[in-house]
Amino acid sequence: MADVHNLGAGKSDAPIYSQSADLRGLERHAVSMARHTSWRAGGVADRVYTPADRDDLVAFMRLLAPNEPVLMAGLGSNLLVRDGGFRGTVILLHQVLGALAVDIPATDVPAMDLQGKQARAADMPGPVNAIRVEAGVACPKVARFAAMHGLEGAEFLAGVPGTMGGALAMNAGCYGAQIWERVTQVTLLDRRGVLCNRHPDAFDIGYRHVALHGSPATDADPAAARPELGETHWFIEAVMRLHPGDGARSRARIKAFLSQRIATQPLQLPNAGSVFRNPPGDHAARLIEACGLKGRRIGGAEVSVKHANFIVNRGGASAADIEALMDEVQAIVLKLSGVDLVREVRVVGDPLPSGRPADGPVRGDKR
Ligand SMILES: Cc1cc2nc3c(=O)[nH]c(=O)nc-3n(C[C@H](O)[C@H](O)[C@H](O)COP(=O)(O)OP(=O)(O)OC[C@H]3O[C@@H](n4cnc5c(N)ncnc54)[C@H](O)[C@@H]3O)c2cc1C
Repeated sequence: MADVHNLGAGKSDAPIYSQSADLRGLERHAVSMARHTSWRAGGVADRVYTPADRDDLVAFMRLLAPNEPVLMAGLGSNLLVRDGGFRGTVILLHQVLGALAVDIPATDVPAMDLQGKQARAADMPGPVNAIRVEAGVACPKVARFAAMHGLEGAEFLAGVPGTMGGALAMNAGCYGAQIWERVTQVTLLDRRGVLCNRHPDAFDIGYRHVALHGSPATDADPAAARPELGETHWFIEAVMRLHPGDGARSRARIKAFLSQRIATQPLQLPNAGSVFRNPPGDHAARLIEACGLKGRRIGGAEVSVKHANFIVNRGGASAADIEALMDEVQAIVLKLSGVDLVREVRVVGDPLPSGRPADGPVRGDKR
């Protein structure tokens, strides 16, 4: 066995690697997740690993101690890490898994090998109507790339400020479209560092909900016995099927979607998009506004006066402020309208015992 590393940065002194000889990524300790989430709030992760590329990510996962908690994050645009921080390793994929390519027709996609390598469209005859997107690619880039190649159907992604991995995990959508309606195949990485391809029928997919059906990998392997997206399995790549169309029309649609967002969303203040899912037949924003909650504040967190289903960080908000405001909104809407709103944003990590943030707010770019 090679080196045994005791990183010792977090609560636990247990080594998180069995060996580390070949890793090429960037490892940091005690990293504020406020820098990696669009709310610009939240606690510190014990470790943050930014892999050098897909192979490095696979190697990292294979070397990681099996009991090390892992949080895969994209752009943190749907994520709140509580002020007490995340006791484990956050893996950042944005721009790392950044491959984006026009692919062969989705119906003819051959199985990939374990490294996810496969012939590209340029090598294949026939019409092209699919794109292959790695998990760290930002959604707006996917929308622009598809339009540039005369492919329609990805325009809605232009205003989703997350990565493909986060979009797959959330079944991100807007303007009547959801990402999984376009996906024909995904590549998953599991906790043992094994890659596998899966079709959408391997998943239970709903509104802002995606889960794995049963065991996606070898049933004999205990690591695959209880597959949990986000805990034992993560998205590495997707193939999206699009329609050959008109690039100019796609670009016009993107422009219209973005204008609509600028007009209706508080994009000038840190936020995480819609906080609650829309209940069947209604809109969370309408319910929250009807309860008179626009402008409601706890600490630096405020229910946006522009869009009631957004909570904005007006400066210095702690994760506890944001979470308390979410809870208050949920309780008041339940009391006044009878509707129990369900959170869309993912909240992870430990609260501070006192409920107070450990550090001051982090300002500036998240990266
Ligand atoms: C201004 C604004 C507007 C928004 N508009 C929309 C909208 O119109 N529609 C919409 O659906 N959402 C919207 N969102 C929310 C958010 O952008 C999406 O949910 C997005 O898909 C999250 O991607 P991310 O990379 O930021 O994920 P993160 O916030 O980093 O992570 C979100 C969740 O996905 C998991 N995850 C991340 N990467 C992976 C991976 N590779 N494999 C498995 N799990 C992973 C994380 O562990 C976490 O649980 C908006 C957000 C903002 C700030």
